Amino acid sequence: MTAADDASAGRTEIGDGAPLGPPWSAGVTRGADGAVRVAGLDVREIAARYGTPAFVLDEADLRARARAFREAFDDAFADLGGGADVYYAGKAFLSVLVARWVHEEGLRVDTASGGELATALLAGVPGAAIGLHGNNKSDAEIDRAVAAGVGRIVLDSLPEIDRVADAAARHGVRAPVMVRVTVGVHAHTHEFISTAHEDQKFGLSLVGGQAAEAVERVLARPELELLGLHSHIGSQILDVAGFEVAARRLLELRAAVAAGSGYLMPELDLGGGYGIAYLGDEDVPSVRAVAEGLADVVRRACADLGSPPPRVSIEPGRAIVGPAMLTLYGVGTVKEVQTGADHGPAVRAYVSVDGGMSDNIRTALYGAEYTAALVSRAGGEVTRPSRVVGKHCESGDIVVRDVDLPADLRAGDLLAVPATGAYGRSMASNYNLVPRPPVVAVRDGAAVVVVRREAEQDLLALDTGYAPGAVAVPGLGS
Ligand SMILES: *Cc1c(COP(=O)(O)O)cnc(C)c1O
Repeated sequence: MTAADDASAGRTEIGDGAPLGPPWSAGVTRGADGAVRVAGLDVREIAARYGTPAFVLDEADLRARARAFREAFDDAFADLGGGADVYYAGKAFLSVLVARWVHEEGLRVDTASGGELATALLAGVPGAAIGLHGNNKSDAEIDRAVAAGVGRIVLDSLPEIDRVADAAARHGVRAPVMVRVTVGVHAHTHEFISTAHEDQKFGLSLVGGQAAEAVERVLARPELELLGLHSHIGSQILDVAGFEVAARRLLELRAAVAAGSGYLMPELDLGGGYGIAYLGDEDVPSVRAVAEGLADVVRRACADLGSPPPRVSIEPGRAIVGPAMLTLYGVGTVKEVQTGADHGPAVRAYVSVDGGMSDNIRTALYGAEYTAALVSRAGGEVTRPSRVVGKHCESGDIVVRDVDLPADLRAGDLLAVPATGAYGRSMASNYNLVPRPPVVAVRDGAAVVVVRREAEQDLLALDTGYAPGAVAVPGLGS
């Protein structure tokens, strides 16, 4: 189906009803009839056309977030390296169209595998605007990145230095690289922990001396161009304090290298991890406040060290795509369960939806919190404590642990979970041989399928025992 085919039916006036506000994307409104629209398109129409579950992407909201990052960082860093570069962390969600859209808004694209690299290249993102990460890059991935002329390969271990240099030599090029440093800062939401040693798989240790050794070894290989140091300190960070320590430690190493070797690294990457609203009551700083906070940190540290400022880059993933998508589910079985609990509700409604941990593993994986709303109609005034669960054979298959939903919620209703754009579809699985949902983008009332729904045939195509048509299976097309 093409954009033109999709553009016709089901269109309502933009601005029909008031925006729901965070954690919903900017284009989500509830109409006078009680049903929700995404960028002017009624969710009932989206469900009728594309089925459920479906990820629904608000394209204008995604583009606005990408643009906001680029503009805010360019402005805040204008006097520090003449602006800043924003790399969209594609692992949050990557498709050809999304890579193209964020690139059109002035972002570069960070990849962490051959598949992500291929997708960014297919989108027409120039190699020079792509970065490659990974703690265990294969020879094929390194070779592909060097052949594509990526703007930077972020080195994550000592052995990788020679592997990348050898690939560059084979291709007769000089490969731009950064060194990923573990700086001993872990940030998550409102807390950050500053330690020295790090017991984790990423990066090269600052205190252990591996980071300095990596710099030395890179400088000894003429096939490598050392752009700078990199650190990524955490996720869902709502406070710039953690970046202060990380940036200082990186800039100290940069100054020490300059003092020792005379080589001043031109760039610095502070990674991603910028937090978003999942429930709506979080205190999320504006992109401008984050940009100004980081610029301030770099400005002060450089002044203290007497170092010329580097050109800074950052790698937001979640903050660009997370709030721009919701998941639209069909409601199935609704059960009332006596909890027998001393704390919390005595009775809880278990609302089963037609997806679950296969399209949103974050709740089961890290206890992530989400909210949900009835979106196909207004629903009664009376609400009750509810839990949104999936259809998988696992009692931990929970999408939303605690949410008050209308007591008259019933099978056939549509339920939406906001802020599922990051690490939802990208971490989706086929558990229980459930086909993965599509991603449908809506802009000005018109929908485009960004990633189509998987079909049972897609799954069976990988199964070597499958002979199409050999056995009659009801409901399976041949
Ligand atoms: C995961 C990751 C990001 C993106 O993190 P978000 O929380 O999505 O912003 C950026 N850089 C690196 C190196 C990462 O591993």
